[in-house]
Amino acid sequence: MILTHCPACAAPLHSTNAKQCSRCKTRYCGLACQKQHWEGGGHDKLCKLIKKSGGAEQFHADTKYTAAVAVAAKECAEDTKGQTCYICTQALHWKTKEGLVRMCACRGTAGFAHVSCLAEQAKILVAEAEENNLDWKVQNDRFQRWHTCGLCEQMYHGVVECALSWACWKTYVGRPEDDWAYNVAISVLGNGLASARHHKESLSVREAELSMLLRTNGSQHNILVVQGNLAIAYEALGQHEEVLRMRRKIYSGWLKLYGEEHFDTLREANNLASSLLDLQRFEEAKSLLRRTLPVARRVGTSDELTLKMNWIYARVLYRDADATLDDLREAVSKHEELERTARRVLGGAHPDAVGIEKSLRDARAALRAREAEAVRVADRAAAGALQRDLYALRRRFELACEAGTVQVAERDALQRDLDAIQRRLEAREAPFSGVVSSICEAVGALAPGDA
Ligand SMILES: [Zn+2]
Ligand SMILES: [Zn+2]
Ligand SMILES: [Zn+2]
Ligand SMILES: [Zn+2]
Repeated sequence: MILTHCPACAAPLHSTNAKQCSRCKTRYCGLACQKQHWEGGGHDKLCKLIKKSGGAEQFHADTKYTAAVAVAAKECAEDTKGQTCYICTQALHWKTKEGLVRMCACRGTAGFAHVSCLAEQAKILVAEAEENNLDWKVQNDRFQRWHTCGLCEQMYHGVVECALSWACWKTYVGRPEDDWAYNVAISVLGNGLASARHHKESLSVREAELSMLLRTNGSQHNILVVQGNLAIAYEALGQHEEVLRMRRKIYSGWLKLYGEEHFDTLREANNLASSLLDLQRFEEAKSLLRRTLPVARRVGTSDELTLKMNWIYARVLYRDADATLDDLREAVSKHEELERTARRVLGGAHPDAVGIEKSLRDARAALRAREAEAVRVADRAAAGALQRDLYALRRRFELACEAGTVQVAERDALQRDLDAIQRRLEAREAPFSGVVSSICEAVGALAPGDA
């Protein structure tokens, strides 16, 4: 069940023993809310209809489905103008009068359809597989039609994926919680909502899915998958601390379940590192990746995953405010290497390849800024040394003047040191001209005593 909040006050409901309307099964946090919802919330008028639809969950799914289809058809109206459904061959659906949609990889005149027709097809294909007891893989393949186009075999996206996911949910919501199709449908719904950027709703469906899995003793594998989806929902909502908390937990879950070399564990290490990068926990990200990158290399996991992990490592190197000049140089050379690999493995237009290119520019800019800073620091040090040497030399001239006369050897030494200092001065602007002219005066004063 995904109606996990009281319809009157929005308080979260206990998963199994909430108070419910005896006729339509709408659940409440307590008697007061139930009474209030009946008298002032309009439930007295809806109760019969909800009961007739098959109960609160079914009614909710049906209502959300109808609204989602309208949104999808409206958003696709421009694209589908003058087209017909490839399933029923009509422009308007004969029964629902809904418009056409298309949000997959189909091009030209291919792939226009009614959400109702797509849903009907998926429903029949799955039912047929179930009736004929076709094996698990076939059932699973057919279930794909709830989110993947049968023509171009690409996933639907956005509002179309969302509408189809409500169709899927309303088809299986009446089944028991431990039914396989019910379980896949709730996850399809969570994905569909996320795809249409209904992140809050998606989060609440994922939460319902997780508590259902815990209730029905779901496998640890499935629980970790759902927790991963929950973390994605938190991320979409900008709750980064919550994401990090979950990622740590999920990573240790995979580690315990499958060990450090399993793909799921390594992928989660990458997710955790990414979350640490977002929150600028650079040291922790570095130490995690130093542990897991060698494992990824050793087991030869997917090129794409290794690339992602290396990319996080390279970003950590230059984003850390405490990064040394050597760290920045390493970050740039790593990025250059990653850029070449990304082009080869993913192609230049892949979002990761584009992202790596951008962060290469950022890393280079950070290195340039740091190098310029290093030059400024060295320059300041050189200027300080020059000033000290100048004052010391002036003091020597003054002492020679006070003495009145000077030995030839001493005068030559002074002259040599003065020439050397003047060569150093030529290399820079003249903030020391005052000191220099005072030395020149001293030299002038020195001349008569010399013989
Ligand atoms: Zn309530
Ligand atoms: Zn009722
Ligand atoms: Zn149709
Ligand atoms: Zn398609």
